[in-house]
Amino acid sequence: MMLRRVGVAAAAASSTPPVPVPEPAWLESLLATRFFLACAAHPASPRNECNMFCLDCQASSAAAFCYYCRAHRHASHRVIQIRRSSYHDVVRVSEVEDVLDISGVQTYVINSARVLFLNERPQPRGAGAAAGKAAASPYNCEICGRALLDPFRFCSLGCKLVDTKRRRSATGQAAATDNEEAGHGSKSGAAAARPQGRRRKGIPHRAPFWS
Ligand SMILES: [Zn+2]
Ligand SMILES: [Zn+2]
Ligand SMILES: [Zn+2]
Repeated sequence: MMLRRVGVAAAAASSTPPVPVPEPAWLESLLATRFFLACAAHPASPRNECNMFCLDCQASSAAAFCYYCRAHRHASHRVIQIRRSSYHDVVRVSEVEDVLDISGVQTYVINSARVLFLNERPQPRGAGAAAGKAAASPYNCEICGRALLDPFRFCSLGCKLVDTKRRRSATGQAAATDNEEAGHGSKSGAAAARPQGRRRKGIPHRAPFWS
C-alpha cells in the first residue's frame, strides 16, 4: 500500500504540463513539395505518381516519391500519403495528428475521411460570388480570408505556418529586447526573486494522499 502511494506521487510529480509544440522541421518542406508528378525512377510502373512524403528523410532533395520508392527506400520510415481534392493537396488528419499540431486548421470530410489542406487555395476571381460567400460565412481564414465552414482560424496548414512564423518573429524581437535590458541592470533580478520567496510559503509540504 505504501509503495503504491509513493508510485502514484512520483508519477504525478514527473508529469509535465503540456507545452506548445513547435512545428516540425519537415513541415515547410512538405508544404513546398509538388506532388502527383510521375516518378523519374519508375516511369513505366502503374503506381508511379509521387504522392508520398517521408518525415524521416526530410532533408533529402526529392521530397515526393512513389509507391515503389517507398518500398525500396523508406520501408521503416514514417511516411504520409498526400491525396487530392479538386486538384488540391490534402492529407488525412489521422496520418498527421500525432506528428503535427493541427489545432486551428479547418478540416473537411472527403471520401468519408477527415482531411486538411496543405496550402491556401486560390480563390475564385468572380468577385461577386466570392464576396457573397465570404459574407455568408461568419468564419474566415485569418491569413487569406477564405470563408470557413466552422470556427477554425486557418484554411490550411500553410496559412497556419504563416501565422506561426509571424508570431515567432514578433516574440523573438521581444525576447532580444528583454535580454538587452536585463544585461544592463540588476533591478529585474531582484524583482524576480521576491515573488518566488512568497510562493514557497504557499506550497504545502505534504500532499494529502488520503482523506
Ligand atoms: Zn518511384
Ligand atoms: Zn524515408
Ligand atoms: Zn488561408
